[in-house]
Amino acid sequence: MPAGQKSGFVRLTDIFHERMPWEVPVQGLGFIASREGRFHRVREIVQRICVFTGSSVGTRSDYALAARSLARELVSRELGLVYGGANVGLMGILANAVLDLGGHVIGVIPESLAAEEVAHEQLSELRIVNSMHERKAQMAELSSGFIALPGGVGTLEEIFEIFTWAQLGLHRKPCGLLDVQGYFDLLIAFLDHGVNERFLKPEHRGMLLVEQDPGRLLDAFNAYTPPDLGKWIGRD
Ligand code: AMP
Repeated sequence: MPAGQKSGFVRLTDIFHERMPWEVPVQGLGFIASREGRFHRVREIVQRICVFTGSSVGTRSDYALAARSLARELVSRELGLVYGGANVGLMGILANAVLDLGGHVIGVIPESLAAEEVAHEQLSELRIVNSMHERKAQMAELSSGFIALPGGVGTLEEIFEIFTWAQLGLHRKPCGLLDVQGYFDLLIAFLDHGVNERFLKPEHRGMLLVEQDPGRLLDAFNAYTPPDLGKWIGRD
C-alpha cells in the first residue's frame, strides 16, 4: 500500500499511475488489471464529492432543504462527502444529513478551527490538519468533483481556488454551483461580465457548471469533459 494511504482504501490513481477519470465505476469488491497486466485486489473504491458551503445557515429555509436534497443524491449514488469538518451552519446540516442516511463523510479541518469546538465529532473520518492550505490540498486530493452550496467568502474562496486550478489544467475534475433560489445569480452575472471584458474565456467560464437541482448537477458532472485550451487570452 502506498505511503500515507488509509488502510481499506485503494485509489485508482495508485493503480493506473494517472488521473482517475470521472467515469470509472466506484464501489465494491473485486480485481482491477493494471497496465502491466497484473491484477490488484480492490477492497473498496470510493468516489467522493467535496462540498463547500456556509458556516452559517442563511436566511431562507430553502438553503437547508437544498443541503439535505444534495445529501440524498450523494448517498443514493454511493458518493462519499468531503467537506470542511465543522458542525455549524449549512456545513453541519449537510454532513448530518449524509450521516443520517448512512453515507460516508470525511471532514478536513485545521487545528485552529477544531480547537474552537466547531469540529464535528461523529463523522466517518475527521482529519485534523495544520493549516487552511493543507486542508484545501487534502480536500482536492480526496475528491472527484467540487460543489459550492450557498455560503460566504470562505465558500467562494474555496470554489474559486479549485475552479482556478481546473482552468490552469492542474486537474480535470468538475466544479459546480448549486444555485439555490438564485443565490449565485449575481456571481454568475459577474463571470459573464468577465467574459465580455475578455478577462475570462467563454470555455473557461463554462467549466463552472451551474444547476438548481442536485441530481442535475451530478448528472452534469458525469457528462463533463474539460476543454483543452490555454489559459491566456491573446496568446493562442
Ligand atoms: P463561509 O462561507 O464564509 O461561512 O465559510 C465556509 C467555508 O469556509 C467552509 O467551506 C469551510 O471550509 C470554511 N470555514 C469557514 N468557517 C468555518 C468554521 N467555523 N469551521 C470550519 N470551516 C469553516
